[in-house]
Amino acid sequence: MHRLTRCAAPLVAAALLAACAADDGATVDRATTSATTEPAAASTGSTTSTTGTTVPSTTAATALAADSCPALPERAAPDPDRPVYEVDMAADPATGVVEGTQVVRFVPDLPVDRVVLRLWANGPRPASVGTSIELGAVAVGGRPAPVGQPDPTTAVVELGRWAPAGEAITVRVPWRLTVGGPVNDRISRQDGSLRLGSFLPLLAWEPGVGWSVDPPTSGFAESTSSPTARWSVSVDVPEGLGVVATGSEVAPGRWEVDAARDVAVSIGRFTVSTATAMAPEPVEVTVAVHDGIDDGAVYVDRIVTALESFASWYGPYPWPAYRLSITPDLSGGIEFPMHVLQGPGTSGRTTPHEVAHMWFYGLVGNVQGRDPWLDEGLATWAEGRIEGTLPDMAVRSLPADGDGRAGAPMTYWEGRSASYYRSVYVQPAAALHRLGDDALVDCALAHYVAENAWSLATPADLWRSLDATFVDWRTALGPAGLAPG
Ligand SMILES: [Zn+2]
Repeated sequence: MHRLTRCAAPLVAAALLAACAADDGATVDRATTSATTEPAAASTGSTTSTTGTTVPSTTAATALAADSCPALPERAAPDPDRPVYEVDMAADPATGVVEGTQVVRFVPDLPVDRVVLRLWANGPRPASVGTSIELGAVAVGGRPAPVGQPDPTTAVVELGRWAPAGEAITVRVPWRLTVGGPVNDRISRQDGSLRLGSFLPLLAWEPGVGWSVDPPTSGFAESTSSPTARWSVSVDVPEGLGVVATGSEVAPGRWEVDAARDVAVSIGRFTVSTATAMAPEPVEVTVAVHDGIDDGAVYVDRIVTALESFASWYGPYPWPAYRLSITPDLSGGIEFPMHVLQGPGTSGRTTPHEVAHMWFYGLVGNVQGRDPWLDEGLATWAEGRIEGTLPDMAVRSLPADGDGRAGAPMTYWEGRSASYYRSVYVQPAAALHRLGDDALVDCALAHYVAENAWSLATPADLWRSLDATFVDWRTALGPAGLAPG
């Protein structure tokens, strides 16, 4: 098998990769533990693709002369009618009480008779330590509106009529979140720190489809989806505490971002390390470590390298800043736009994996309950590229209940958490590697990012980008369960 044509960006990327792949130390492999999704461990670094390009595989499916990198389209712009959130909240790590009010303006592209808000703070993992969120009196257009809660993570605001597509709907939601204690998940508090991710009542709208009501997962994972929105979030905390969050701090305590599908907030006694990445525009990199539980400088270097590499492979990083918080009792990382949550000791493969999620999840979203492999498989691909671990992934054994099922929804993985990581993270990356030309895969992913930026992509969107790049990709991806029919 051989490769004939590659595009310019991956060649640049290959040069960058050569400088950054031989990194990292060996630690445990969380793939064999239960409740695993985000990899907490470093790669072995033992298998390095020094060119970052072609690693032949016995099952390589392509190598036809027509395989080539298409001209990249201009990156898609966010929906001008995207939702607008205004949030005012006060948080106290000492009590775990977070109270706020949010006003969200939503313009559906289909008629709606309800607004569905997901309350992920009531999901199984936060609930296991007594965390919960309750809504106060909800108003639509200034009038009280009835709210049903068919299950703990779903609030249904009844409009009492059908609102046509294109009509702006404004929902005011007061809420009170009580964070019960520490848990290896996205909402947690310990030792004066608060980790807040997926904590605001979130519009679960899939444009062109409707409300996304996938059940929550009990694993270290998510079944979330939300459209790209504008956010303005005001965070008030007790004296002496620091805040890092999604957005730019436009005034003390107020964070704004023009396009992001969710926000996260970390609160603690932070020591901050900073740097600037060129991705390719300047990106302010901040690592905030709570209470001296880790060394932030180690993360900064890894983030800068990952941001610059991924920007050269998949297109420009879309925001002016990238912020990582290190807070206690988190065994891996959890991604949010512009702001990633990680635990101590996760400077290995977790760090570039989470940076990769800024493209695969942050920029190109997906319905994570239905297609968890789209963001996890592609973030793992990017992780493998920069770590030089794709050959390792390609020879890794797959669990019987995951082999050929990489495309299964989160509901399938409920109760199969021990198989989830290898099946949904590693299997897609290994299948892409079997195409035999890693740089050309990067090209296909750059195409996918440009075409689907700011939207919720589906597998068909990725298939279109693969069709534009590879003569035959189905032979490699089909056995993983990642090709149509
Ligand atoms: Zn991930």
